[in-house]
Amino acid sequence: MVVIGLGRFGRSLALELADEDTEVLGIDENPEVVQLLSGSLTHAVRADSTKEDALRQLAVHEFDRAVVAIGTDLEASILTASLLISFGIENVWAKATSEAHGRILTQLGVQHVVYPEHDMGQRVAHLVRGRMLDYIEFEDDFAMVKTDPPTAILDVPLSSSAVRTRYGITVVAIKRPGEGFTYATPDTVVRADDTVIVAGRTRATERFSELR
Ligand code: ADP
Repeated sequence: MVVIGLGRFGRSLALELADEDTEVLGIDENPEVVQLLSGSLTHAVRADSTKEDALRQLAVHEFDRAVVAIGTDLEASILTASLLISFGIENVWAKATSEAHGRILTQLGVQHVVYPEHDMGQRVAHLVRGRMLDYIEFEDDFAMVKTDPPTAILDVPLSSSAVRTRYGITVVAIKRPGEGFTYATPDTVVRADDTVIVAGRTRATERFSELR
């Protein structure tokens, strides 16, 4: 995996991949950034990713996955993405800082355009508005929410509280105080100080987390 641009986003991504034992080639034109990460990634190299020769020397064209994590410098992001596409890299991921930026990346042929600031803003809005402890929304109006259970589902097996038909959500997992999460089953009995993870349509998960 190649990560180009080791700013806040690229750095955190590269370190997370390295933590999971993925071999990571990190590239940035700033020597201080490269120096900082040299012990933590498989390779951290100083190079200008808008230069085809520089990328070829690092054998970037031989990778099948690459991430362009340059955001602020639009020109550098586009030139870099364009080179990766022309190399025929199968999975190019790129961070976009605006809708227009994302559109250009898509037009170039970037397969996965991500909008970290925009997505995080939306996610935090859901957390701020509701009583959720954590929130992930997938495509097609489907979400998973971590929340405190409402009193209506306490102290009886999930099968009898009929959460699916009454609230349109499924309780996926449950966490007792001091323990880790386990899968919920129809026999699971939720207690007041447990935490639950529920899945369902976005609005249904939100409404469920707002019940007391
Ligand atoms: P973030 O908001 O995640 O910090 P930035 O866009 O500010 O993202 O940071 C991008 C990183 O990409 C910086 O560390 C910068 O040095 C690097 N970068 C920018 N242009 C190039 C380039 N042409 N070649 C290599 N690295 C670059």
